[in-house]
Amino acid sequence: MKIGFIGLGNMGGPMAANLAQAGHEVTGFDPAAQMPEGVTAAGDAAACAAGAEVVITMLPNGDILRKVADEIVPAMRAGAVFLDCSTVDVDSARAVAEQALAAGLSALDAPVSGGVGGAEGGTLTFMVGGDEAGFAKATPLFDIMGRKAVHCGPSGNGQAAKICNNMILGITMIGTCEAFALADKLGLDRQAMYDVVSTSSGQSWSLTTYCPAPGIGPESPADRDYTPGFAADLMLKDLRLAQLAAESAGADTPLGLAARDLYETFVEREDGEGRDFSAMLPRFAGRDRG
Ligand code: NAD
Repeated sequence: MKIGFIGLGNMGGPMAANLAQAGHEVTGFDPAAQMPEGVTAAGDAAACAAGAEVVITMLPNGDILRKVADEIVPAMRAGAVFLDCSTVDVDSARAVAEQALAAGLSALDAPVSGGVGGAEGGTLTFMVGGDEAGFAKATPLFDIMGRKAVHCGPSGNGQAAKICNNMILGITMIGTCEAFALADKLGLDRQAMYDVVSTSSGQSWSLTTYCPAPGIGPESPADRDYTPGFAADLMLKDLRLAQLAAESAGADTPLGLAARDLYETFVEREDGEGRDFSAMLPRFAGRDRG
C-alpha cells in the first residue's frame, strides 16, 4: 500500500519503520525528526499525502493536527483514508474528520496506548473512531503497528475512549501512590501491602502491572529511578484533554479534575517534569498532611 506518514517522532518514527519493514511503500514528512529506515522523505506535508491510499499523522496536539489537515486534505486523492493516531481533543478530532469527509475522504481518529515500547515492538492498541469502510481499509496497518484495534463508533470516539481510559489510569495511579505512602506512615511493609491489595478489591493495573514502589511487583519505571515509561507531563496532557471534553460535554468528573490539578502541580511547580507518572509515590512519601 502507498502510505504517507506525517510526524516521525518517538512514536511515529518506529510505527512508520514497521510499516516500511512489512513491505509498504512509505513516504514521510517531519520538519525536525530523522527519516526512519525504509521511509522516503517528502519535501512537505502536502507532497507526503499526495497519491497515498492512507495518510497517517502522529502529531503533538490538536492545533498542529488542524494545521496539517488544512495542508493535506486538499492534496489527498479521493477515497483515501486520513488516519490520525495522535492523542488530541475530541473537538479537533471531529472537526478534522468533518473536513476530510467533506473532501470525499475517509477519516479515522485512532489514538494508541502502549507507549514507545509498543510502537517499536508493533504491539500498540488502537482505539478507533470513524466509518466502517475506513476501519476495514486501515485494519491491515493496525495489525502491523499493533496487537489490537477496537472500533469505538463514529469520529471522535477513539479519542473519547483514550481520554476516559487515561483519566481512570491517572486517578488509580494517584490512589495507589497515596495508599503506599499511607501504608509507610502506618508501619505497613510495602511488600505486605502489595501482596494483600494485588489480590484484593483495591487491585488495579497501576498496582500490579506498573507498581509505583521500587523492588515490588513486576519490573516498572520505579525500578529505574522513575525514568519514563509514561512521563508525568504526558499524563497531564491527557488529563487536560479529559477536562476539556468533560467541560464540552457537561460531565461531572471531580476526581478527573483533582487528578489534573495534582499532575499540574507535580509537573509545573515540583520535580515531576521528565519523571515517570508513577513518581507520585516518592512525592506523597516525602510529604506530611498539610
Ligand atoms: P514527539 O514530540 O516525539 O513527535 C511528534 C513529532 O511531530 C515531532 O517529531 C515533530 O517534529 C513532528 N511535528 C510537529 N509539527 C509538525 C508538522 N507541522 N508537520 C509534521 N511533523 C510535525 O511525540 P510522540 O511521543 O511521538 O507523540 C506523538 C503523539 O502520540 C502525541 O499526540 C502523544 O500524546 C501520543 N502518544 C504518545 C505516547 C508516548 O509514550 N510517547 C503514548 C501514546 C500516545
